[in-house]
Amino acid sequence: MEELQDLIFNAWARVEQKIAQDPTELDRRLALRKRPVFRRPIRPWCLAIRASDRRITQYFGWHENWQGWEGRQDIDVTAKLLRQLAMPLQTDRPYSTEKEMAHKLGRSRAAMWSIAKRGVFQRRSIHLLGGVKSHVPVIYSKHLLDPCAKKLAFPHWAWATQHAWLCERVPPHFEQTLQRIPRYIEFVPHPLTGPRRRPRDPFSRNWTQDGDYIPDNWELKRDQINARVRERYWENRQELLDLGTLKTRPLRTFCGWLWICPRCEKVAAKLYLPLFAVKAFRLLGDRDPVIGSETGMPTFEERFLCSRCHHLQYVRNRNSVTWNLLVMHASGGLLRGSEVPRPSWFPRATSARTKRRIVRREELLRRLLLGQSIVTIAREIDEPEQTLRRDLRLHIYPAAGVKTRRALLRACNVPPPPNPTRAKVLSLMAQGLRTRQIAHRLDVTFHAVTAHQRALYRQASAHSRRDLLRFHNLPPLPYLTPAEHTGGAMRSRR
Ligand SMILES: [Zn+2]
Repeated sequence: MEELQDLIFNAWARVEQKIAQDPTELDRRLALRKRPVFRRPIRPWCLAIRASDRRITQYFGWHENWQGWEGRQDIDVTAKLLRQLAMPLQTDRPYSTEKEMAHKLGRSRAAMWSIAKRGVFQRRSIHLLGGVKSHVPVIYSKHLLDPCAKKLAFPHWAWATQHAWLCERVPPHFEQTLQRIPRYIEFVPHPLTGPRRRPRDPFSRNWTQDGDYIPDNWELKRDQINARVRERYWENRQELLDLGTLKTRPLRTFCGWLWICPRCEKVAAKLYLPLFAVKAFRLLGDRDPVIGSETGMPTFEERFLCSRCHHLQYVRNRNSVTWNLLVMHASGGLLRGSEVPRPSWFPRATSARTKRRIVRREELLRRLLLGQSIVTIAREIDEPEQTLRRDLRLHIYPAAGVKTRRALLRACNVPPPPNPTRAKVLSLMAQGLRTRQIAHRLDVTFHAVTAHQRALYRQASAHSRRDLLRFHNLPPLPYLTPAEHTGGAMRSRR
């Protein structure tokens, strides 16, 4: 953040000269502070609290199952509770079990599964981990996790100013009583059929490459038992329905909580508490208008409200508007984004075209390492061969610091792909054919055959055909006089 500070102060030094020449300039700039974009709090500077956070229930030592309960629950939110809820978390290295992280993040296992699907974690399962007779899902992420954010992701650190430790900035004597109500979903039960569907997991040994699941013996047994239990349940249920003692009606299932906003009384999944209305360097020093006045720094309401009541501004890192917003808030509305040069560390917008290129190059590299040829790759991913060759020449090779495909494979510790022509050359050499005869037989040029032979000799560190054949465990050639050799081979060709 020192860099942002330098940039702001350097830009301010230039603007100050302008202000000294024109006295109305400062008033014009201060008038920008009346705009809503400056007065609305920004999401990265807010503490959020999720209504369905299971850690709240754990904190008060309540039971987790509230099925059937109706009414409002009062929650005394204190600074201690808030600090616990906003504390950033991290997975262990090399992994944490999903169950343990779900407990720490206050989320259900199903929620963890859907978060992992969005690419927040690397997720896999380990068979029999910790003696559990099943596949135990484990997750890993190298980033700090924000338990209250949608994808558990913190905003860009330029916004953050150590946002990761917002929990330490909780007002020490904060106290507010919030209300939440249980949330129910309704559904009509229907009989389940067949065995349990297993989640697709590329690391599991039970999944074949063709996408088929091969269950273990104990899983098959379990499936049979489950099928019998289900069958019995639905038979009993049908009996009761026939007798008229049971009516099919939608089941109401408890699925978390919703806050009631203290101001607008509407329900919301999350409530927010802004910690700073604006986080600015004091460029004007003591000349700054009084905080809370019309052109002074704005203040915020120090209590949890919904995003609509706080008029929260959500920011995305990846557009130029955000740089403008960051500069505006960091300079107290006195500078514009265009007046401060944008540093290289600030994320730039990535167009859809650039993203497509990145994806194409990643796919090309992946397939190259699998040993596919450029022609095959071009046909399979439906891209022009020329484009792929240019990607290789201008991006992939320079990035790896190599100049050829062979060097790239060597750099990635991948064995070179088998060459079918080279194998044919070797087998014809073993039959005693000369270079020109091999070229004729394979319908390739003489120089192509010599190139293959050079490569074969180099691979085997051989200096003669006899050594080469011995290296490949092929029978040695019988000794023939030059006349016999040529004549015999040529005759055989005819
Ligand atoms: Zn509200």
